[in-house]
Amino acid sequence: MIVVERIAELRDRCDAARRAGKTVGLVPTMGFFHEGHRSLMRAARAENDLVVTTIFVNPLQFAENEDLAGYPRDLAADTVAAEAEGVDVLFVPSVPEMYPEPTVTTVHVSGLTEGLCGAARPTHFDGVTTVVAKLFSIVGPSTAYFGRKDFQQLAVVRRMAADLDLPVEVVGCPLVREPDGVAMSSRNAYLSHDERGRAIGIFASLRAAAAAVEAGERDPGRVRAIVEDEAARHGLELEYAEVRRTSDLAPLATIDGEVVVAVASAVGRARLIDNVTMQIAGAEVSTDLGVIPIAEQESTS
Ligand code: AMP
Repeated sequence: MIVVERIAELRDRCDAARRAGKTVGLVPTMGFFHEGHRSLMRAARAENDLVVTTIFVNPLQFAENEDLAGYPRDLAADTVAAEAEGVDVLFVPSVPEMYPEPTVTTVHVSGLTEGLCGAARPTHFDGVTTVVAKLFSIVGPSTAYFGRKDFQQLAVVRRMAADLDLPVEVVGCPLVREPDGVAMSSRNAYLSHDERGRAIGIFASLRAAAAAVEAGERDPGRVRAIVEDEAARHGLELEYAEVRRTSDLAPLATIDGEVVVAVASAVGRARLIDNVTMQIAGAEVSTDLGVIPIAEQESTS
């Protein structure tokens, strides 16, 4: 694996790979790797000749009052992890390398970015789409891998790629959880012991939502109330609990078809997000709560 800091060098290497007929897979991240990130690298490794992983804590997607300065970083550990997953190129640009001039050009996806996380973070997704568009332009990947944990981000990036005819397939990978169900997140590092205990309530609230739908509940308002009640039992106040259609994140009058129940909650200084997706056809419900990696299951047994 080689570590690259310069855009020009990364572009040269990706251009050369494509000229040689190789496929290029891209995994964009902000680093501080956990199994969620590593699962994306494995998916990319399985399907591509050249795997590029990027680590960039993108200032554009943080608002003034957010955690840019304190965002967890560990380049040494990340380098070891990426190498172990068979990554070919680890791109770790500085902020001036990515933004040599103040940014006056941004990519904005309207509609999809307005509710859910976009309500509390109105500038966040413009930062995400702008940096992802830049990475797509530099790397020229045939396939890019994103986690379904950041469900809205995945929908927004997909829509950007479709609307701008970007020649890249955007793949959504399973949400990876800790053995107790808490969604893996770099921001879990912020949690105290007590807060980590309460974070389980987020997963419990989504399980309660899934159980209610599996038992026949089809009213989005009642499912939201179930989610909020279960979170409250764990001492959590949710920033939002929403029931949306997965394809376009539109609100639903009745729970039917492909549906996501998405939540966000501030736990201490960590803002955590999570979701469960369900496919509903009449009385049939199939639920996707994500995966717990086997290595994690074994390490706790
Ligand atoms: P981040 O470094 O948090 O910006 O995340 C980089 C990529 O990893 C994004 O596509 C995330 O959706 C994905 N990711 C983060 N956490 C998880 C997780 N628990 N399961 C699956 N993918 C994840």
